[in-house]
Amino acid sequence: MPIPLRQTIRVGAYVVAQHLKGVRRYPLVLMLEPLFRCNLACAGCGKIDYPDAILNQRLSVDECVAAADECGAPMVVIAGGEPLLHREIDEIARRMIAKKKFVYLCTNALLLEKKINLFEPSPYFAWTIHLDGDREDHDRSVCQDGVYDRAVSAIKLAKTCGFRVNINSTLFDTADPERIARFFDNVMEVGIDGITVSPGYAYERAPDQEHFLNRRRTKELFREIFKRDPRRRWSFNQSSLFLDFLAGNQSYHCTPWGNPTRNYFGWQRPCYLLGEGYAKTFTELMEETDWDAYGTGNYEKCANCMVHSGYEATAVMDSVKHPLKAAGIALRGFRTEGEMAPEIPLDRQRPANFVFSRHVEEAMARLGARSQPAQGVRGTS
Ligand code: SF4
Repeated sequence: MPIPLRQTIRVGAYVVAQHLKGVRRYPLVLMLEPLFRCNLACAGCGKIDYPDAILNQRLSVDECVAAADECGAPMVVIAGGEPLLHREIDEIARRMIAKKKFVYLCTNALLLEKKINLFEPSPYFAWTIHLDGDREDHDRSVCQDGVYDRAVSAIKLAKTCGFRVNINSTLFDTADPERIARFFDNVMEVGIDGITVSPGYAYERAPDQEHFLNRRRTKELFREIFKRDPRRRWSFNQSSLFLDFLAGNQSYHCTPWGNPTRNYFGWQRPCYLLGEGYAKTFTELMEETDWDAYGTGNYEKCANCMVHSGYEATAVMDSVKHPLKAAGIALRGFRTEGEMAPEIPLDRQRPANFVFSRHVEEAMARLGARSQPAQGVRGTS
């Protein structure tokens, strides 16, 4: 079972409690980026294009714990950069688990063998290993040969040690449905617990700007992929309604506050994918962000987004409100033929605003003003 029953019940109860309390906007998953430094430089990644002084910064264990306390989300995804480069990553995970947060530690797995002894299996902990396809697809995606083989051997090791292990696959317009289907078959045979899959977000700072999917193409691709699993062999670590949305059968608006993101700059506005500004506190993020300024149809940079960090929260909330619809799709599978759900019109979206350089310049000025060396250097393994 990709999502343990304990987690499904706890998260469902949390969503119901928020509704009963009348909370309009609430977080589901804290996206924690304790560092931006990575030991890979993937073509579709827009997360690590920073000067060294910023890449050398780390959130401390206490800052990470404070972020979890501030936002109160029941799940924590630890991303980055490569989290295993953080010297205290095991302590960060341990402190989150002690708070009974469901922790997903995202990694490219290059350091997993070296660091696995720092972690213990727990119902509150799962590895999420980055794998964008078979050997050829993944190594091309991460721009380095041999990474697929190391990731698969890390998955086998983690399973042998008793951990829950998921994979996280980001798909681009180069994805071939037949090969992705075979890849999903193969990883299920390797013994993973679940698959998290999403189209890539068109990061403005990603080195490869040619291969991001638009929404129509995303839906066609997922229909073609899902068609190839008539016997339902693949276990997805995602809600059935989010996957149905990817297949073009649900008209959803994103829920950017559902996965609030904390990193070196602060609380990122409006979402994990877009850094248009930063709030000092979680309350400031929730109360002072002009949420209506973002989302597909509202903002040019959101036009093609169908990413899980923006839409899974919408699907989970829909599942809790309409459990029979969610259960029906989970039982029957996703419709892969026929008309798609109506698309959001783009004719009234505001144009893109490019603010990345200003944030970097301001951060560099702050770092330059400090007399002591950048604290993050201690965290590099
Ligand atoms: S559509 Fe929503 S989740 Fe996607 S980039 Fe825009 S605000 Fe973020």
